Amino acid sequence: MASIFSRIVAGEIPSYKVAEDDKFFAFLDINPLAKGHTLVIPKREVDYFFDLTDEEIGAMQIFAKKVATAIKEAFPCVKVGQAVLGLEVPHAHIHLVPMQSEKDMLFTNPKLKLTAEEFAEIAQKINSCLPQ
Ligand code: AMP
Repeated sequence: MASIFSRIVAGEIPSYKVAEDDKFFAFLDINPLAKGHTLVIPKREVDYFFDLTDEEIGAMQIFAKKVATAIKEAFPCVKVGQAVLGLEVPHAHIHLVPMQSEKDMLFTNPKLKLTAEEFAEIAQKINSCLPQ
């Protein structure tokens, strides 16, 4: 059975899409640590990030760099932090989180509760900051 993230890529489960190319997909984390918290995934379903090929990790990091640059423009912050956990969803993903301080990367922090309209607005704002 396809992972929840593969089902998002296929459009079977809704998401707040931020960016997409032929190999990668970026969408908002539904339990964000901060406004702009985004997940970057490969369309090829692989559970463990470090089981991706060297080429995939390289290309995924370049894709994530573009998304992180757009996040920083849309949501001014000190830096965009990056984390790979993968303990919950068995489909490799990079978390990109706008940080005002180190504490913003604590995954044990309470998550923001946002409305559907707020999520849609955030995704649109980041998308509009991507190079066209
Ligand atoms: P982890 O696997 O530990 O890196 O955590 C998985 C992340 O995916 C969590 O931050 C969840 O909030 C997020 N997540 C799970 N399901 C969805 C979904 N349907 N849409 C967006 N984010 C999700």
